[in-house]
Amino acid sequence: MSTYVLPPATPVTLAVAGTSAVFPVNRVFCIGRNYAWSAGEPRPTEMPAWFMKPASAVVPAEGALPYPPETTEFCHEIELVVAIGTGGRDIDSALAEQHIWGYAAGLDLTRRNLQQQAKRAGGPWEPAKAFDHSAPCTPLVPASRHPRAGAIWLAVNGIERQRADIADLLWPVPELVAMLSRSVALRPGDLIYTGTPAGVAALQPGDHVTGGVAGIGDFSMTVTS
Ligand code: MN
Repeated sequence: MSTYVLPPATPVTLAVAGTSAVFPVNRVFCIGRNYAWSAGEPRPTEMPAWFMKPASAVVPAEGALPYPPETTEFCHEIELVVAIGTGGRDIDSALAEQHIWGYAAGLDLTRRNLQQQAKRAGGPWEPAKAFDHSAPCTPLVPASRHPRAGAIWLAVNGIERQRADIADLLWPVPELVAMLSRSVALRPGDLIYTGTPAGVAALQPGDHVTGGVAGIGDFSMTVTS
């Protein structure tokens, strides 16, 4: 057996609601635009874009939310999170639920100034999306049922900024699992952040952020400088 030249990184885990067990996080996939952001917007015919964050970006959605470096526009994106329990490639959307271990509510935090810069330059999104603490997530709820409707919301200092229903996902969860599995083999422990509804806006140090998905989980965090 080989000897590690450095101590291997401790696995990133998420709490499982109601138990002392934890879920080991493997990779984090994030889905681009997946709700209509304006009335009458035509339903897209192409599948949404996806990008990734490192597992190390996942932190419990509680307590302090550090304001990241190199940021002039720090945006909240509340999202339903899907946790993969059984991997696979070319998964049929009709069978996708069998691959899902559980659900959570998460934040796809975004350094919007760096995202706009990347879009202008045609550069990668990692500086905008893959920073430390950029993927807070609530404890996972095991998939004894598969929620296909329910409120998703976020408020800042008690004022609501985002509200929709997960039934309004343009591409529903089984389609997202199928789509990703046609591109990469999904693995146990993978998370999928499924896209955010309208109302994304910037956070400031001191802001109190609350949000959640009905029946799945909610959170309360405070932005620190
Ligand atoms: Mn997002």
